Amino acid sequence: MSDSLATVSYIGATILFVLSLGGLSNPETSRRGNLYGMIGMTIAVLATVFGPRVSAAGIPWIIGAMAVGGAIGVYAARTVQMTQMPELVALMHSLVGMAAALVGFASYFDPTSHLQGAEKSIHSIEIYVGILIGVVTFTGSLIAFGKLNGKIGGSPLTLPGRHWMNLAGLLVVIYFGGVFMNAHSITDGIVPLIVMTIIAGLFGIHMVMAIGGADMPVVVSMLNSYSGWAAAATGFMLSNDLLIVVGALVGSSGAILSYIMCKAMNRSFISVIAGGFGTAGGTVAPKGDAAQPAGEVVPISSAETAELLREAKSVIIVPGYGMAVAQAQHTVFEITKLLRAKKVNIRFGIHPVAGRMPGHMNVLLAEAKVPYDIVLEMDELNDDFPKTDVVMVIGANDIVNPGAQDDPSSPIAGMPVLEVWKAKTSIVMKRSMASGYAGVDNPLFYKENNRMLFGDAKKMLDEVLTVLKT
Ligand code: NDP
Repeated sequence: MSDSLATVSYIGATILFVLSLGGLSNPETSRRGNLYGMIGMTIAVLATVFGPRVSAAGIPWIIGAMAVGGAIGVYAARTVQMTQMPELVALMHSLVGMAAALVGFASYFDPTSHLQGAEKSIHSIEIYVGILIGVVTFTGSLIAFGKLNGKIGGSPLTLPGRHWMNLAGLLVVIYFGGVFMNAHSITDGIVPLIVMTIIAGLFGIHMVMAIGGADMPVVVSMLNSYSGWAAAATGFMLSNDLLIVVGALVGSSGAILSYIMCKAMNRSFISVIAGGFGTAGGTVAPKGDAAQPAGEVVPISSAETAELLREAKSVIIVPGYGMAVAQAQHTVFEITKLLRAKKVNIRFGIHPVAGRMPGHMNVLLAEAKVPYDIVLEMDELNDDFPKTDVVMVIGANDIVNPGAQDDPSSPIAGMPVLEVWKAKTSIVMKRSMASGYAGVDNPLFYKENNRMLFGDAKKMLDEVLTVLKT
């Protein structure tokens, strides 16, 4: 492939990636957005592999590596459970970070590189910064993976003097950056590069360990952004314009998403990154354990739930992570169809951080073919709860916790929540009194107008559906 054809292909791929991002911003156009992205990526890969910078001898190696990587990717995508998706995404981010770091080392030791003067200095900066971002992304994403799948606890690690430790690490990295830039030979640069790599790795671990459970959504989007910048850094090291553009697109859209998540949680980005939030103070229960009971709860049966729904004129469904675990979205839609046929005004309330990844609930509801026009954002719906007869909270917990508004000592204090307790009756479906991801007790359960429907959400909803049908 000639140089000019490769450039034209890169421009075409860039346009497709921009269109893809535009499409992904709305559920109705997201399939098209995905398609644009897939076509863009295919063009990008073909233009790179068969482009002017890859020798014919290298092609079989690349195809072999793509076959192995592709097979692993297909296997992972086919076997992953919907609830494991956030962990998979975190793992993917770590791979982008690792790739950037490895490309950095390979560029540094490249025996065919004979750059001199300013060009050499610029390339050295690209390598140093590229490895730094790559390693932070790699280790940070691995810790996020552990936190998302529950292998690492959600409480923040608040080491004494941790901000000073971070600052000292930064100063050491800057100092060794100077040493690296002034190294006269490849051997002289190895020590500063390795010291920086170790500090970057420890910083990535420390940064994510210091962030509490409730702030994890911001971490997920932030690491998404880092993986973009890591890819852009790889683009600089390899002088690949497409990688720079695509990396910058991912990096900046991830940064915008982090901003949106921070706004949704009423947190400042700096305070989240500084860490230690999320479980400071408040009644924190170990993850998955029953929180200390703070009152009496009133249980309800599935038959009684069906009766309440039958009599209701307006219903709001608030789905959360438990709906994803139970895979209850299809039954939820069956119930929705039935109630809509009976002219009940039924809508869905989506909290920006519901589930375990941005847009988690929207994806599940779209999969079950719930019409988009009855799926509303928290802000569009929060004023309607006092006019609502029944709210069904399906496997949601933190996002409907009134403590966020009433209890200044709560770890989730200040986070906007869906005000479900203002409805005539709220029904919470969950298996036990266990706390949600943030590990805090939920005063909603003890409210007078709240009922608890204990059990697996899918099983309970199947029972409700059966009663509704009779
Ligand atoms: P929560 O984690 O607060 O609560 C989920 C509830 O679902 C649990 O209390 C659990 O209770 C219940 N549950 C689990 N399995 C089932 C089942 N099979 N049937 C019925 N219920 C079930 O989820 P929310 O969606 O309310 O809140 C999201 C939380 O996750 C927030 O704290 C957010 O900060 C955090 N987070 C969000 C991310 C994002 O990007 N959206 C990323 C990372 C974290 P029980 O065990 O008793 O059944």
